[in-house]
Amino acid sequence: MDFIAGYMEKSLKPYKNSIERFRKLPEKGLAKEKILAILSEMASAENKSWEEGRVSGAVYHGEEELVSFLEKVHSIYSQCNPLHVDIWPSVLKLDSEIVAMCSSMMNGDEHVKGSVSSGGTESILLAMKTYRDYYRKKKGVMHPRVILPKSAHVAFSKACDYFELEPVYVDLDEDFQVDVEKVKEAITPDTIALVGSAPCYPFGTYDPIEALSDIAKEKGIGLHVDGCLGGFITPWAKRAGYDVPEANFHSQGVTSISMDTHKYGFGPKGTSVILYRDSELFQHHLYVATNWQGGIYFTPTMAGSRPGFPIAAAWAVMLMMGDQGYLESAKKILDTGDYIRREIGRIDGLKVLGKPLWVIAISSDRFDPYLILEGMSRKKWMLSGLMNPPAFHIHLTLRHTKEGVKESFVRDLKLSAEEVAKGKIESAPLAPIYGLSSTLPKADVELFMKNIVEWLYS
Ligand SMILES: *Cc1c(COP(=O)(O)O)cnc(C)c1O
Repeated sequence: MDFIAGYMEKSLKPYKNSIERFRKLPEKGLAKEKILAILSEMASAENKSWEEGRVSGAVYHGEEELVSFLEKVHSIYSQCNPLHVDIWPSVLKLDSEIVAMCSSMMNGDEHVKGSVSSGGTESILLAMKTYRDYYRKKKGVMHPRVILPKSAHVAFSKACDYFELEPVYVDLDEDFQVDVEKVKEAITPDTIALVGSAPCYPFGTYDPIEALSDIAKEKGIGLHVDGCLGGFITPWAKRAGYDVPEANFHSQGVTSISMDTHKYGFGPKGTSVILYRDSELFQHHLYVATNWQGGIYFTPTMAGSRPGFPIAAAWAVMLMMGDQGYLESAKKILDTGDYIRREIGRIDGLKVLGKPLWVIAISSDRFDPYLILEGMSRKKWMLSGLMNPPAFHIHLTLRHTKEGVKESFVRDLKLSAEEVAKGKIESAPLAPIYGLSSTLPKADVELFMKNIVEWLYS
């Protein structure tokens, strides 16, 4: 714990000694200029990494033109609270138009219903809660099970934790797509839903949605397509020249889809869309309270009061981009992915896992992948480590399509592999954490991690 905290302190608590700390309210309010100066100092130190395209994912667009447009939208909608539809009925228009535009991108018909949530995790939590309630009512399933590819986003595990669903994990095949035969074998009468990613977060690979759809339809269970990552790329991939599987309502067994307006939709953080094939499912998604002393109450998502700005901004960005804008950005990102994937194939000892497009997981049969990752972090790349198998990945965004970024990524990757080959990088400080889960009991690892999180937030 001390070792890990010592290592992380420098990068995760960098302002400890350089910026004034506030542990109780200042007696008198501070001058606005001083407050803004503190925020500016921290933000300008942090903006560099993503602006220069050195991080995986995180900021998906980030051009000045978009940022200043969002600032204008914020100045118009900063006070809006979608809970109060009587005060801000415009939110109903914005929300329903975002849902309708997303549905049309996903081949939805007029029966498709949905909501704008606060993010991919909330979309997924809501979808899982919806299946739980729907199948409890429809088939009396009291111990619901959800079948998850091992690569499914962790938000599904969180949903199982929160809503007492049993997650059943299924292995991937050698292409890093879920093994459809094993999905079939895992289905029991208590199974309420299957999940397929389009594509998945760790490896950027698409699960075989069409095959999962056939199974779901035959068994009369739900199929959630997680398009959080791909929802704003997949619809344009074919026109951009890349072959991707259809992952939408065109497949008859697909009953819900999540897609993140705040990722490749380029909206600011705080929105995602959850779509359902029909109103019968959507009714189990909605919350209404009819006998509260506070009066009639309803919410389409989990929060009560929530910001209206992200919804207005997601709507505004979608209109600003248009079909043509998303096609152009998808093409730039996919072309960059194509270049990087091909170049990695030419670096001695490195390999790409599966056949991804723009979310690329890198591993090695010769070197410890975490040492390569450490080499990259010494060169100021902020990539993400993966487990089972050991690897790391980069989610390419518009930031990586800027001149020279993809070339310098490949150059640094090659350099890191050479350094590891020569024994110049001997240890990766955070690698032991990845190893913990295979050597210690689950409860011990969880306690250890919770202590770290508590320390981070204190
Ligand atoms: C990002 C992501 C999510 C979760 O989204 P958040 O917006 O971070 O809550 C879910 N699934 C996939 C495939 C993702 O990439």
